[in-house]
Amino acid sequence: MKVLLVFAHPEPRSLNGALRDVAIAALEAQGHEVRVSDLYAERWKSEVDRADFPSLTPDARFIPVAASKKAFDANALTDDVKAEIEKLLWADALILQFPLWWFAMPAILKGWVDRVFAYGFAYGVGEHSDQRWGDRYGEGTLAGKRAMLIVTAGGWEEHYAPRGVNGPIDDLLFPIHHGILYYPGYDVLPPFVVYRVDRFDEAGFEPVAERLRERMRTLATTQPIPYRRQNGGDYLIPSMNLRPALGDPGAAGFALHVDDADADGSLKATRP
Ligand code: FAD
Repeated sequence: MKVLLVFAHPEPRSLNGALRDVAIAALEAQGHEVRVSDLYAERWKSEVDRADFPSLTPDARFIPVAASKKAFDANALTDDVKAEIEKLLWADALILQFPLWWFAMPAILKGWVDRVFAYGFAYGVGEHSDQRWGDRYGEGTLAGKRAMLIVTAGGWEEHYAPRGVNGPIDDLLFPIHHGILYYPGYDVLPPFVVYRVDRFDEAGFEPVAERLRERMRTLATTQPIPYRRQNGGDYLIPSMNLRPALGDPGAAGFALHVDDADADGSLKATRP
């Protein structure tokens, strides 16, 4: 397989840097071809602004969605964005690796998504009508490819459990898994999360590295999280609400969009 690893940590000698090297070595040992986008090292520009759309005249009002569509259609996105899109089209699998910062990805990685997931490429794809709400959530440009996260967190695993004070890790990662990766079509694999890392030492490293190697060895075969497909019949059109017959009638929230959610709403699929 061809694998793109997007790495978002400012320090190559960090724990994340060490885990990245483990992941790459394990992938290459399997015969996979790996490319890396090292966002800090490449000084990735993270904010969306007028500079992204040089064809905008100085007096024109900047409407990011419209500018993105026009530039994508005209092949006029900036070279850095075009290069990332080319890598995404090349790769059979995408790995996003980052430390959890304020319960989310670091801003530089969010800015990579904001700029690279352009209108016409990652959203605004397919027929939009009374009968169809585009190709998204399981369909779209990146359908047929796999994606997964490698995440380190300072907090304890228990604090991210279904009843933990931080909120369940499945919920915290849902906007990335479902909103960013599943939306343009990726099959999203359960994440690789390492907890309580700030007190990590050499004795703790090897077991984690081995778990990561195993995930890399099984990248092509791990079952994706079974999110419901938007156009698979589970949602009413045009409200895009889950059909009343599906899921627990009183239930709400993220777990509804996984078609094997446990009765308590936790996601079996993300606990391999
Ligand atoms: P490092 O700091 O590089 O290393 C962590 C530990 O691992 C150190 O003790 C280091 O000595 C050791 N280590 C490094 N490399 C190796 C190696 N090769 N072998 C053995 N040991 C090694 N955490 C949360 O849970 N939730 C949050 O919302 C959250 N928000 C944060 C916001 C900010 C702005 C910051 C700075 C941190 C936040 N944290 C949060 C903590 C954060 O997730 C961790 O600090 C981060 O995941 C650690 O990853 P790192 O690569 O930076 O580790």
